[in-house]
Amino acid sequence: MTIQQHRNFINGTFIESRATGLIPVTNPATGQTLSEIPESSPEAVADAVDAANAAQPAWEALPAIERAGYLRQIAARIRENVPTLAKTIVAEQGKVMGLAEVEVQFTADYLDYMAEWARRIEGEIVTSDRPGENIFLFRQAIGVVGGILPWNFPFFLIARKLGPALVTGNTIVLKPSEETPNNAAMFMELLNQTSLPAGVVNMVYGRGAVSGAALCENPNVGLLSFTGSVETGSRIMAAAAKNITKVNLELGGKAPAIVLKDADIDLAVNAITASRVINSGQVCNCAERVYVESSIEDEFVTKLSKKMSACTFGDPLENFSVDYGPMINKSGLEKVAALVDRARSAGANVVTGGEVADLGRGNYYRPTVLTDVEQDSEIMQKEVFGPVIPVKSVTDIDEAIICANDSEYGLTSSIYTRDIGAAMRACREIKFGETYINRENFEAMQGYHAGVRKSGIGGADGKHGLYEYTQTHMVYLQS
Ligand code: NAD
Repeated sequence: MTIQQHRNFINGTFIESRATGLIPVTNPATGQTLSEIPESSPEAVADAVDAANAAQPAWEALPAIERAGYLRQIAARIRENVPTLAKTIVAEQGKVMGLAEVEVQFTADYLDYMAEWARRIEGEIVTSDRPGENIFLFRQAIGVVGGILPWNFPFFLIARKLGPALVTGNTIVLKPSEETPNNAAMFMELLNQTSLPAGVVNMVYGRGAVSGAALCENPNVGLLSFTGSVETGSRIMAAAAKNITKVNLELGGKAPAIVLKDADIDLAVNAITASRVINSGQVCNCAERVYVESSIEDEFVTKLSKKMSACTFGDPLENFSVDYGPMINKSGLEKVAALVDRARSAGANVVTGGEVADLGRGNYYRPTVLTDVEQDSEIMQKEVFGPVIPVKSVTDIDEAIICANDSEYGLTSSIYTRDIGAAMRACREIKFGETYINRENFEAMQGYHAGVRKSGIGGADGKHGLYEYTQTHMVYLQS
């Protein structure tokens, strides 16, 4: 069988770019090699940025509503290809088919949503102190955006960066994760079927340390929009510092879920379980630790363990009914296993799970519930990114809020209670970018997904996410 080799897309053409080698792309459920991508050289990345830079003034000069028309064209192509796109995502990333289909549909909807902003990008007219002076604030494009993508929602993240970038008049160079480039390659095939002008969207493949770093160091990139780990985010900031390039960073999370004694326990159990096993636990905003009031701890832990241990897993292309698939790679699995092993050694009680599952092939970890965990322990402080949930009992909401805030992360959080006063107090006092009340953690495209502390700088979605892709220009007119 011939393995497909993807080519960079630069200035409207798929080209054999300058590459220093090939990187294999594998199916995490089977280990099968699916394709190869070029390890793009820094020169190839520079070619892509040059193309984006050359195309940008004419792109920005188009009326926004015309730019929006191209986003709608791309969304339509995506909708015509949902099953193929979803299967591509499942094969290289390992999520279940239903979730992959949601991701593809949501991506098309997101592009349409960003297109709707075309008639609503607004500046301001400000009152002056001086007679005859008029003060205007214009919102303009930044220029070239460098979009660096993770592997966990690889298709949607393309739209989350490309949509706001393009509608506001920027051009873009995308670098997908080396783990999941196949869906990105399909995206470019579909985009190439539209009449989008050459150079507006470019894609380069390769590892972060080479092509990603080259994108971050390029002086013609005006905004680096990155989603991924804190460690990489920190490296990107350091690289961006050389040219004082603006950064927008969506990084990791350690979402606390607070369950108070008056909560609907079944609802909390269902929502926290769904949150913990979706995408094999590899989601930045999902529940990573639980604080439960001690008077309901036994009932909650019993129900949670029962629900978690009933979750099924396996190759999502062989079995469409599993709750979750393999973890992205062996090192991801080993990281989760090591974190749980160290928690056990430190005194945690493994109520269910706590081990790697050997299905003959693929990277699977059993759904796991831990109790007797200390607040300052590694398992309560570090992002696990797997189907593992540690539960700590607390005496009351005061302790729960203190523990929730005791984290280097600050992306999402949740609280389960029937007491509106307690819920609103938690919203005031929990220092996180998002709080979900009595529901699973999942953001909306019209919200604003932004983390505090090490979870990031800036955010995505909605009006505030859109304006991250603009810069202001003040004009003073004496009349
Ligand atoms: P990662 O940081 O390993 O890689 C992300 C991207 O960065 C990849 O494309 C990679 O090639 C690139 N990269 C690596 N080193 C680079 C460098 N030095 N310069 C430039 N680019 C570089 O992240 P991942 O493992 O793909 O994703 C998982 C992480 O992403 C988790 O921590 C998760 O919480 C986070 N995440 C956050 C959000 C959010 O909205 N906050 C969403 C999804 C994922």
